[in-house]
Amino acid sequence: MQRVYLDNNATTPVLPEVFEAMRPYFGENFGNASSIHHHGQGTRAAVEDARESVAALLGCSASEVVFTSGGTESDNLAIAGLVKPGDHVITSSIEHHAVLHACKHLAEIGCEVTVLPVDGRGLVDPADVQRALRPTTKLISVMMANNETGVLQPVEAIGKIAAEAGILFHTDAVQAATKVAIDVKRIGCHALTISGHKIHAPQGVGALCVKKGTEIRPLLYGGRHERSRRAGTENVPGIVGLGCAAKMSKESLDRGDDRKLAALRDRLQQGILAQVDDAGVNGEGAARVPNTTNIRFDHIEGESLVIALDLKGLAVSTGAACSSGAIEPSHVLTAIGLRPDQARASIRFSLGKQTTDADIDFALALVPETVARLRDLSPKYKKQAVST
Ligand code: PLP
Repeated sequence: MQRVYLDNNATTPVLPEVFEAMRPYFGENFGNASSIHHHGQGTRAAVEDARESVAALLGCSASEVVFTSGGTESDNLAIAGLVKPGDHVITSSIEHHAVLHACKHLAEIGCEVTVLPVDGRGLVDPADVQRALRPTTKLISVMMANNETGVLQPVEAIGKIAAEAGILFHTDAVQAATKVAIDVKRIGCHALTISGHKIHAPQGVGALCVKKGTEIRPLLYGGRHERSRRAGTENVPGIVGLGCAAKMSKESLDRGDDRKLAALRDRLQQGILAQVDDAGVNGEGAARVPNTTNIRFDHIEGESLVIALDLKGLAVSTGAACSSGAIEPSHVLTAIGLRPDQARASIRFSLGKQTTDADIDFALALVPETVARLRDLSPKYKKQAVST
C-alpha cells in the first residue's frame, strides 16, 4: 500500500545523509566527549563540529549553543533557567505546552504570568506585549512559528520591545528551523529553542541558543558539560545528527528550497479548497512557514478524517488532544476564535524535505473524496444540506 506522510510538524524522517553521519558514532567512533584519550578527543571534535553547524544555522556563535534532549527541555531550560519566584513572565496563548505548562509551573512557585491573546489569524500583537510590561517583568516567551497553523509571529518587533525595556526574550523556533531563515541577532532574543526531530535529525536531541552574557540556571545538576549549562554526558550520535541536519538545512535554505516547499503546500491547499465546500484555512492572511496548512472542514470530526485517511495511506493530524477520555479541541485553534466543533474539524497537513509532487497528487485524490464520504455519513451535515 502506498503511504504518504504529511505530518512533518509532528516529526520528520531522519535523512539518509544524517543517518550516515551518525552511524560511526554508534560503533567505531565511540567515546565520552569529556574523556581526554583518543576516543574522547574524536567525539569531542564531532560535538564541536556539530555546534559550529547549529550556530551557523541560527546566526550565533558556537559557544552560545547548548545541546539538550530536545525542544521540551530547551523550552523548560529557558523558562525555568531565566526567572525566579516574584518575576513576571509574558507569553502567548498559542505556545506549545512545553512553554505553557512550564509557565504554569512558574505561576505555582510564585511568578506572575501574563498569557497574551492572539487575533483571528493567530498573531500576537506586539502592542499587547508592550502593554503587558511591568516593572517586575523578567522574560517574554513568544514562539517564532506555531506548530499547528504555521503562522510566523512578529518576533523581531517583540525583540525590540524586550531590548528597549531591558527584558529577556526567549523564542521557541522548533517549527521555524529549516523552514525559514533564523538570525538570533535580528530577532534580538536571549534564548532560542530548536529540536532535532523536526529538522530531519533524530528524536531526543535539541539545542538552546543562549546569548553570551545571559545568566541561566541549569535544570539538571551534575557535571560541567555544556559549560555548566546542561549536565549529562553528551548524546554524541544525536548531536552529530543535529549538526548534519542543521548544515543541510542551511544549504537548502540558501538554495531556495523553501520556495519549492511553499509551492507544493500551496498546490495542496488550493486543490483541496477548490474541491471541498465549507472549508477554510486557519491562519489565513498571516505569513506562515512554507510547509504547513491547517484546513477546517466544517461538519467533520477531525479524528474520523485522520483515521479514514490513514486507512487509505495518508498520514495527517488534528491538533486535538485526548484528555481523560474526551477529545479536547486544540488550544491554538480555540485561541484564534474557532468554536470547539470547528477546531475539532481542522486538519494539519505538514510537508517535509522528502515530500514530492506525487505525494501531493495522492493527497489531492484522497482528501476531497474522503471528506465527501464522511459528510454523507453525517446526519448533522445532511440535515444542514437539506435546510440550506
Ligand atoms: N515546541 C514546539 C513549537 C513544538 O512543535 C514541539 C514539538 O511538537 C516542541 C516544542 C517540543 O519539542 P520536542 O518534541 O523535541 O520535545
